[in-house]
Amino acid sequence: MFADIVVDIAAGELDKVFQYRVPEALESEISAGMRVIIPFGRGNKRTEGYVIGLTAVPSYPEEKIKDIEQIINDGITAEQQLITLAANIKTVYGSTMAAALKTVIPVKKQVRAVERKTYHLNIPKEEAEELLEKLKKDRRRTSGAVLLQALLCQESLSRTAVIQNLGVSPSVLKNLLDRHVIAEETCRVYRKPVRIQNEETAKKMLNAGQQAAVDGILAAPGEVHLLHGITGSGKTEVYMALVEQTLAKGQQVIVLIPEISLTLQTVSRFYQLFGDRVSVMNSRLSAGERYDQYMRAKEGDVDIIVGPRSALFMPFERLGMIIIDEEHDGAYKSETTPKYHAREVAIWRSKLCGATVVLGSATPSVAVYHKALTGVYHLHRLTVRAAADSVLPKVHVIDLREEFKLKNKKIFSEQLTEMIHERLAKKEQVMLFLNRRGYAGFVSCRNCGYVVKCRHCDVSLTAHYDGRMKCHYCGYEQPAVKVCPVCGSKYIAAFGTGTQKVETMVSQNFPGAKVLRLDRDTTTKKDSIDEILSDFKNGDADILVGTQMIVKGHDFPKVTLVGVLAADLSMFSGDYLAAERTFQLLVQAAGRAGRGSLPGDVVIQTYQPDNYSIVCAAHQDYEAFYRQEIAYREMMHYPPFYHMLAVLGESSRMPELDQAMAAVGKMAEVLLPESEVVGPASAFVSRAKDAYRKVIYIKSRTMRPLIQLIAGIDQAVKNDRIFNKVYIQFDMDPVSMY
Ligand code: ADP
Ligand code: ZN
Ligand code: ZN
Repeated sequence: MFADIVVDIAAGELDKVFQYRVPEALESEISAGMRVIIPFGRGNKRTEGYVIGLTAVPSYPEEKIKDIEQIINDGITAEQQLITLAANIKTVYGSTMAAALKTVIPVKKQVRAVERKTYHLNIPKEEAEELLEKLKKDRRRTSGAVLLQALLCQESLSRTAVIQNLGVSPSVLKNLLDRHVIAEETCRVYRKPVRIQNEETAKKMLNAGQQAAVDGILAAPGEVHLLHGITGSGKTEVYMALVEQTLAKGQQVIVLIPEISLTLQTVSRFYQLFGDRVSVMNSRLSAGERYDQYMRAKEGDVDIIVGPRSALFMPFERLGMIIIDEEHDGAYKSETTPKYHAREVAIWRSKLCGATVVLGSATPSVAVYHKALTGVYHLHRLTVRAAADSVLPKVHVIDLREEFKLKNKKIFSEQLTEMIHERLAKKEQVMLFLNRRGYAGFVSCRNCGYVVKCRHCDVSLTAHYDGRMKCHYCGYEQPAVKVCPVCGSKYIAAFGTGTQKVETMVSQNFPGAKVLRLDRDTTTKKDSIDEILSDFKNGDADILVGTQMIVKGHDFPKVTLVGVLAADLSMFSGDYLAAERTFQLLVQAAGRAGRGSLPGDVVIQTYQPDNYSIVCAAHQDYEAFYRQEIAYREMMHYPPFYHMLAVLGESSRMPELDQAMAAVGKMAEVLLPESEVVGPASAFVSRAKDAYRKVIYIKSRTMRPLIQLIAGIDQAVKNDRIFNKVYIQFDMDPVSMY
């Protein structure tokens, strides 16, 4: 027997399959997906590799084939389906096979098992009762009697129970063991990262809309479904009903969430219904916890896994459903090579095993909604809030240009200030949201709202530290402007306020209010996100200030006011998804208000009250937003009408980089005569870690030619000296621009 093996070395030129002989002794044991030790290269260095296939006939002269040395037996393997998935990821997203395999294996190394010792009787019951009577008469041996008595009532006892609870000394225990009166057993216990008090909440009766969605999804198993439900419409309840039905069929479920910070909230709700059958998988777990969850999934000890995108690769054998909550979230796209999109890969995985895919969102991504409308996916809608008395909040849009004219230079408008005071007086809670992620230093006029844009592209220029303004789409640049070209005001500058500054301003403007802040800086510690969120939920603070981390999916019934400080910040991130992202963030932020029985208000502060993503968000009108956005996408040849491939080149040497990127551009034009090629241009971060960065975008109606282009460039990178000093990366259908 022969094995095809991918060598576990990151270097690109080794991205090749090597054949090895399987020694007879290993034949019965080996299977695809296992990791093995092989002699590799001239020096026969012991190297780790993945078996990706087995065959009876060698494809090389037999005498040239070396033997596999040993199998690594630690339980970490990739099943055939996951190998297929890795191969697809490699082809579509452009990476080495080894990197793709590492992606689909969510644990890296074996971690020693936690063991627990238990004790049980080793003699017949009657004999034990006789012995007990004897021991009872001997006053020096009462503790042995206590243990026997306990083991006569209870089949087995843990070591802690024996020593701590019963107070039996280790020497008495040893004595009874040595006399074979009792016996010891060692068993493996899994680390269980879910520690939740089971608060009893009554299971909810689904409303008509929820029931229709559940029925509709179950009626088309193995297909892709979009659950489009407004914020607070009870999507989680729908997921739970679906999970219940899937488990009843003996199948397993993966639930993806966009942010680790949502883990506790999501898992608690599932835990109430499914108890220990639920577990989590994410990077905050210890290596031991991760390994154990992987083994539990493999051995069928859990049926539901909740986690961010990497949880997609849990080794469930009977996977029946993949649920992707907040489907539109950019966090589902990997930032490192292979830059796969968990939603797309989930759909591939479902096709391999027949699982149903459920995508849930209040603000579906435009590309997904397009597929739902054109019948590629099924569409189910939830149009009302589920909780009794809960209605969508009232939205107020504040024009910051007017505030500025009224000489209000604070970051809180008059109306927002007034409403915050009102809430504080009524002891209700407030969330203040700063859309900082989109902050890329776009330059705007505080008097008229004018935004400096590129001459050649419909994107804003961004201010750089060197004082110039650049288009990171086409490479155009110009000196910074000092006065507004429209109104002549000199208050034109890069916009930027951090959450920390907001926190300080809240304390100054609302003395006495208790403030909590949630952003990347405050949540570096292991449990701090959960702490901050639960403190706020328990009413330990009046105001929560934060970035988009606070708008995603959280359910705080006492929040009756949400303030969005500068809604425009995400609009000028300079890419085609900017409007979609702004709309989504605003609707999600607004969705945090008035989720309990108290009605809610939302204040959106903006320099562009007429922009369609803001107008539509204010009306919570997804359809209207979609109609405008899809027309723009079609006109501009953006996804979902075109696929887009970004090729990013990095090098410490500019001339080599220029040459290589020019060659990439040439190849694109030759191989894809129908396509549109933009660039090469300097990336937004034009130099990182001493390397220059350039990017080319190629748009094509279908994906196939782009995949061929990736393969072609890969080939050239291996063979052409032009690429010697250049590191090339691919990003298929990027969700942010370079
Ligand atoms: P979404 O995820 O769609 O924003 P959630 O699933 O968080 O909404 O539900 C919003 C609120 O509505 C929650 O407090 C939930 O307990 C409540 N809820 C959901 N379904 C029902 C129902 N059928 N009856 C009563 N309350 C419900
Ligand atoms: Zn102006
Ligand atoms: Zn430009």
